[in-house]
Amino acid sequence: MSEYNDEHWMRHALALARRAWEEGEVPVGAVLVQGNRVIGEGWNRPIGQHDPTAHAEIMALRQGGKALENYRLIDATLYVTLEPCAMCAGAMVHSRIDRLVFGARDEKTGAAGSLLDVLRHPGMNHQVAIVEGVLAAECAALLSNFFRQRREQKKALRLAQKSTQ
Ligand SMILES: [Zn+2]
Repeated sequence: MSEYNDEHWMRHALALARRAWEEGEVPVGAVLVQGNRVIGEGWNRPIGQHDPTAHAEIMALRQGGKALENYRLIDATLYVTLEPCAMCAGAMVHSRIDRLVFGARDEKTGAAGSLLDVLRHPGMNHQVAIVEGVLAAECAALLSNFFRQRREQKKALRLAQKSTQ
C-alpha cells in the first residue's frame, strides 16, 4: 500500500469543511490519520450541536479515541484546514498525537504559532510536530468565500426587509 501524502489528506479535510458550510457552520474540516488509515473525521458544528467545543479537531480526536479504544492517539497525524485554536491545540497535547498538518493560518486565534504556540511550548510535556501551509490557498479561499456569501445574504435580507416596510 502506498503512502498518501499530506495534500491527499488535506483534500479529505477540505471535503469535510464543505459539509460544515452545507450546515451553515464556518467551514473547517479535520481528519485524523494513523498508519495511512482514517480513524477520525470532524467538521465544525458548534451552532447545530449547541456545543462551543464542537470544533472539527475535537470531533476528529473524539472519534479517533473511540476507534482505537484509547485516549492516547499515538503516531496519529491530524489534518485540519485552519490553524487550531487554543482549545483544540490543548486537546492535541492531551491526545499525544504525533503531528499536526494545517492549511491556512488564523492570525486572530491560531494557537499553533500565530496568536499562541501551545503545541511547541517548551514547558509542555508533549511536543507536536507542525507542518503548515498545505493547500493553504484553497483552505483560506473556502473560508473567505463563506464569509463573503454570508455578508451578501445578510445584505439581501436587509434590503428585502426595507422594501416590505
Ligand atoms: Zn478549535
